[in-house]
Amino acid sequence: MPVLGHGNQRHRALPPNARSFVLPLSLALDRVILTRPCPNCGHKLKKQGVWFKTVGRYLCEKCRLHIVMNYLEKAELFDAHAHLIRQG
Ligand SMILES: [Zn+2]
Repeated sequence: MPVLGHGNQRHRALPPNARSFVLPLSLALDRVILTRPCPNCGHKLKKQGVWFKTVGRYLCEKCRLHIVMNYLEKAELFDAHAHLIRQG
């Protein structure tokens, strides 16, 4: 009797901290200016998408607060600017 369904039940419940869980940061936003307000003073930082992709933390230009940006926050930022991508 052959064993069926072998190895085919893995994409059901990924643990939230799974390393393989990577949201795509759109290449289309690499050259688009994204805006991110400082959580402390509200100063709007404007950088290209590619800059946000590579940065892990940065200094607010106004209040000098050290701002840490994790991957999820990057994904949210990119998502918030997705409408800037011109389709077609
Ligand atoms: Zn600030």
